[in-house]
Amino acid sequence: MDIALLYPFFRGDSMEKIEKLKKLISESNNIVFFGGAGVSTESGIKDFRSKDGLYNEKYKYPPEKILSHTFFLKNTEEFYKFYKEKMNCVNYNPNITHKVLARLEEQGKLKAVITQNIDGLHQKAGSKNVYELHGSVYRNHCTKCNKFFGPESVFASDGIPKCECGGIIKPDVVLYEEALDQNILVNSINAIANADLLIIAGTSLTVYPASSLIRYFRGKNVVLINKDITPLDNLANLVINDTLGNVFKNI
Ligand SMILES: [Zn+2]
Repeated sequence: MDIALLYPFFRGDSMEKIEKLKKLISESNNIVFFGGAGVSTESGIKDFRSKDGLYNEKYKYPPEKILSHTFFLKNTEEFYKFYKEKMNCVNYNPNITHKVLARLEEQGKLKAVITQNIDGLHQKAGSKNVYELHGSVYRNHCTKCNKFFGPESVFASDGIPKCECGGIIKPDVVLYEEALDQNILVNSINAIANADLLIIAGTSLTVYPASSLIRYFRGKNVVLINKDITPLDNLANLVINDTLGNVFKNI
């Protein structure tokens, strides 16, 4: 179904569009927020795929190779060198977007945050119902006995982090070649299918499963917030090309 055909596209300047978003939020009690790397960039965390993000830095191997399942198994030491240097986001703080979303959940308006980020910043801001599609650096498990470890066991370790049982500790972060957690996927689909307002922000929507997930939406309004245009802009009836900070400080 082409949502754009059913709901007239709202045109106006950024401020008018933010006012329109505020109105949509005030009218809804079943909002779902779908966010990508852009949600965390204003907290200082680099966007993997942006022009000067992680993926364009120079390493011995390309980051998408280092962050793969095969590489983790075969070059565990090298994997952890990169992971500890580049993926440690435990010392960052939530920004205005995370905080406003937590407030909307507390008010009973927002039902779920679905995120592609692994930094735990939504929970840090107070959000409870967060579906982390790509996992989290806050959860780690022994590959042998499955014992749980917090982030410090990995980031503060020397070399390859290991369990007392001798097993290697692995972050619960979805690596390339790995499948997404089915429960999280199903919960995300259900949340989107039941929402009446879907806000998609800070994602280019080119990364699986973002583009396919949002097609489960059957509600009234889709709002896209992104600095740049995205391939799915035509699916939304309100597109705001502005920074997330600018938008959410006015919500
Ligand atoms: Zn163990």
